[in-house]
Amino acid sequence: MPHYATLIPGDGIGPEVAQATVRAVEATGVDLVWRRAELNEAIILEAGKTLPQYLLDSLRETRVGLKGPVTTPVAEGFQSVNVALRKTLDLFANVRPVKTLPGIKSRFSDVAIDMVIFRENTEDLYSGLEHEIVKDVVTSLKVITRTASERIARYAFTYAQKNSRQRVAAIHKANIMKLSDGLFIRCCREVAQQFPQIQYKELIVDNASMQLVMRPETFDILLLPNLYGDIVSDLAAGLVGGLGTVPGANMGETHAVFEAVHGSAPDIAGQGKANPTALMLSAAMLLVHLGEKAAADKLQTAIEAVYRTGKCLTSDVGGTASTEEFTDAVVKAIKG
Ligand code: NAD
Repeated sequence: MPHYATLIPGDGIGPEVAQATVRAVEATGVDLVWRRAELNEAIILEAGKTLPQYLLDSLRETRVGLKGPVTTPVAEGFQSVNVALRKTLDLFANVRPVKTLPGIKSRFSDVAIDMVIFRENTEDLYSGLEHEIVKDVVTSLKVITRTASERIARYAFTYAQKNSRQRVAAIHKANIMKLSDGLFIRCCREVAQQFPQIQYKELIVDNASMQLVMRPETFDILLLPNLYGDIVSDLAAGLVGGLGTVPGANMGETHAVFEAVHGSAPDIAGQGKANPTALMLSAAMLLVHLGEKAAADKLQTAIEAVYRTGKCLTSDVGGTASTEEFTDAVVKAIKG
């Protein structure tokens, strides 16, 4: 029986990196059938809703998705597709492994960075509850609940335990937001007590940002509410060579949608320059989720081999190769 997964190429560089990733996954020989579901600004505007029914139907059927980025209008327009998808399918855990690829030339190439970010994915300031009280006075509700905070904390600690990770750092601003971040951090503490073998510490988000730049190698698991998790993810991506290389997963009880940390990169869309590594590594996470560890290892090892040689890399990581040339190299490495 083949596996089925929904493929949402998205827009901007999405279709380019999605096509590259489909080629690389196919080269592993895994029996996986993609159900393609298009989604972009034009479709959303025509459908009059952020998540068209065919997309939800497909994800509800396959329960697994690989998603490219989708552009969200700034300061106007429709709700973010990503936020809507995460809330609708209750994809409560955003998991983002941030690791230095072998041979990559970044400002921190000589530092062994290997951390996993666990970002709460359904609430906080991303609830979208904004309100103009009177003209030019706006409030935005930051929603933090015990249920969601405990759930993400338990997910992070369980992952740490299963994957022999030693340390969890919960990141907050509870010195200022005593009630909301206060509740988040209390839940993290309570869950930490159930995992005494894992070292637990707390960092205020501004200090955490500095520590991440000064001593990135000391971080193992990071546990954050939604907004800080989003910001810290891009900061962490910058430490390992940029957004082109960092994968991610949105995990729920019954559904999982895998996607890169990066957005639609309109500045380089359509130029054949985009780095598909982040989506390829997200696909490797998807393969592990489907129980196809051998195929995931093939893909991951091939990507690492291409980075190790330092040839055929895209321009964001110091090379001159196009998306297609990098993909050719990965496919060649998979096929040996
Ligand atoms: P971005 O991640 O699209 O781009 C930031 C910078 O990183 C740009 O210079 C871009 O060229 C570069 N970059 C990103 N991915 C790259 C890749 N794979 N290869 C090479 N370079 C890459 O962030 P942005 O410009 O702030 O956002 C653009 C749009 O994407 C916005 O509409 C935003 O809402 C949306 N977005 C979507 C998602 C998602 O769908 N998951 C995530 C973040 C942002």
